[in-house]
Amino acid sequence: MRWVHREHTFFTLVVILPVLLGLLFSFANRRTDSAIDTPKEVVLSPSLQCFDTTEYLIYSTRQDQCPPDFLSLGNQALTESATASGIVEEIHPGLQQRFNTAQLFAARDGVALLITSGFRSLERQKFLYDREVQLRGSETEAAKWVLPPQSSHHPKGLAIDVNYPMDPAGAMWLERNGWRFGLCRVYANEWWHFEAVIAPGERCPALAPDARVDLERAAP
Ligand SMILES: [Zn+2]
Repeated sequence: MRWVHREHTFFTLVVILPVLLGLLFSFANRRTDSAIDTPKEVVLSPSLQCFDTTEYLIYSTRQDQCPPDFLSLGNQALTESATASGIVEEIHPGLQQRFNTAQLFAARDGVALLITSGFRSLERQKFLYDREVQLRGSETEAAKWVLPPQSSHHPKGLAIDVNYPMDPAGAMWLERNGWRFGLCRVYANEWWHFEAVIAPGERCPALAPDARVDLERAAP
């Protein structure tokens, strides 16, 4: 029996192992070959979305511009303030235009969208933040809901609160359809807070748990 066992071991080492190694080697080579043979992926420029707000059509094009009578909402995220001076006194015009267009399409579906808080001055944001710290008992808890002035996207003109606090159902329309217009809900704990963090037609990123994600990014 022991000899038979040894014979098996010998058979395994001398015959099966090289065959297995050979197979593995050729498989690895074939993978490399096929990777070389595969044509390079053609990276298409992101398509531009064009909006017809009378017929409620959205047209996708690879051209740089929309056809006449179609409205373009741009082809990138709006994550920088629009003013050259850095002084912001209103909602980013591009964000306002995206909201206005979404508002028209929502109305056709019988849904009323309203910006209940958009641009806030730094003083206003500080007041809201200080009040939230009092209310929640700590800066960490407060920042889940209201960010300090330097971190919040509201004083930068890059955030809007929609239908807060009375109409979560209406805001749900924007959560479902906002991507078409380049608008996304961004925090899991705030159904009302939207930002233009994508190009129109792109997929919205996963929700951050709460606003502290921006606090951390803003930290040195
Ligand atoms: Zn907000």
